[in-house]
Amino acid sequence: MLQLIRRSTANTRREIQQVTGLSRVTVAQRVETLMDARLIAEVAGGGGATGGRRPGHLEFDVERSVLVVAAVDTAHSRTALTDLSGRILETETLDVSIREGPKVVLAALTASMRRLIEVAADGRTVAGAGISVPGPVDPKTRRPSQPPIMPGWDGYPITDHVGDTIPVPIFVENDADAMAFGEQSTNFSTSTSVCLVKVSTGIGSGLVINGSVYHGIDGGAGDIGHIRIAGEDALCQCGSRGCLAAIASGRAIAIRLSDGGTPARSGRDVRRLLQQGDTDALRLTHEAGVRIGEVMATVVSMINPGVLIVSGDLASSALLAGLREGLYPRSLPRATRNLVVCLGALDANAGMIGMARIVTDSLFSAEAINHQFR
Ligand SMILES: [Zn+2]
Repeated sequence: MLQLIRRSTANTRREIQQVTGLSRVTVAQRVETLMDARLIAEVAGGGGATGGRRPGHLEFDVERSVLVVAAVDTAHSRTALTDLSGRILETETLDVSIREGPKVVLAALTASMRRLIEVAADGRTVAGAGISVPGPVDPKTRRPSQPPIMPGWDGYPITDHVGDTIPVPIFVENDADAMAFGEQSTNFSTSTSVCLVKVSTGIGSGLVINGSVYHGIDGGAGDIGHIRIAGEDALCQCGSRGCLAAIASGRAIAIRLSDGGTPARSGRDVRRLLQQGDTDALRLTHEAGVRIGEVMATVVSMINPGVLIVSGDLASSALLAGLREGLYPRSLPRATRNLVVCLGALDANAGMIGMARIVTDSLFSAEAINHQFR
C-alpha cells in the first residue's frame, strides 16, 4: 500500500481498495498503521474535488526524515541534504580531485555531510546516505570495480569508511546510473526505459530498464567510454589506445584546445568555453557528439529505449546536434521512431537527486516495510 501511495497510483482509501481488492476494514487498519508510523499523512483537500464529501488524500511523508547524498566527480565533488523525495535542501561543492584517493576524498565528503546535517537537518533523523562515483560499482559489494579513472579506489570499502562517521544505511552507485534514475523518475517517468550518456572529463552511460537501474553482472553495464573506435590510436587514461573517451571526452577536447593555444584541462573548462561561444570548442564538441552518436547507435539498437538523455559538463546544443548526426544514419527507423533525444532537465543535480531516490526506494521498499511490521 505504501508503494501505491508513494507512486501516486492510489492516494485514497477507496482507490487502494479498488487497486488491491482488499476489504474496506483491512485498508482502514493498514492506513492507520502507516499513519501511526508517520510513513504517510492525510493531506486535507488534496486529490481534487469529486463532489460530495472530499476523500482523505494520503501522501508519503517525505519530510519525516532526511538523506545525505554525494556526487563524486573527477575534479570536484558535491554533497547535499535532501528530503525523501530527493528535493535538495542544502548543498556544498568540494574542490577535491578523485586522484587524491578514497581516504582524502571521503574524509572531505563526510566532513561536508556532517556540516549539512548540523545546518539543515532541523532535528530530523538521517534515514540513509547515497554516494555516486564516476566508475563501475559492484552491485553485490557496493565497492568500485576496476574503475579506469579512479586510482586507488578499486574495491575500496566506501560504505565502511563513511559509516564510521555517519552510521546509517549507505548506498553506492555509478554516477551515470544515478543520473539516469534521477532524470527518469522525475521528468521521464512515462518512459520506463531510459538511457543517459554523461560527457564530462570522461564518458559514461547509465541505463534504466523497466523502471530500475540496470547494473549488469559486475556493475559494468553502460561503461561505453572505453569501447575501442576503429582507426583511432589516441592514448586513453585507462592505458589502452583508441577508446571513445580518448577521442570524444571533455579531457580529449581540452587537450586539443590546449594544443591550439586555448588553455583547458577538464570538462568544466570546455563547458565554460562553450558558454562563451568559443568557435573551436563548439566545433570540437560537435565532432565529439558525432563519434558518441555512432557508439550510441549500437546501444539504442540493443535496448530500444524511449529517451536518450545527454548530460554532463559538455551537454550542449553542439553535442546534441553531433550526436543526432552520428546516431540516426546508423539506426533502423524502428529503433528511433519513438526515441526522444534531449538534454537532461536536472543538470548538475541529476546524480544527487537520483541517488536520494535510489536510497528512498530501497529504505521504503515493500520488502523493508513488511519486515518492519512483521
Ligand atoms: Zn580507455
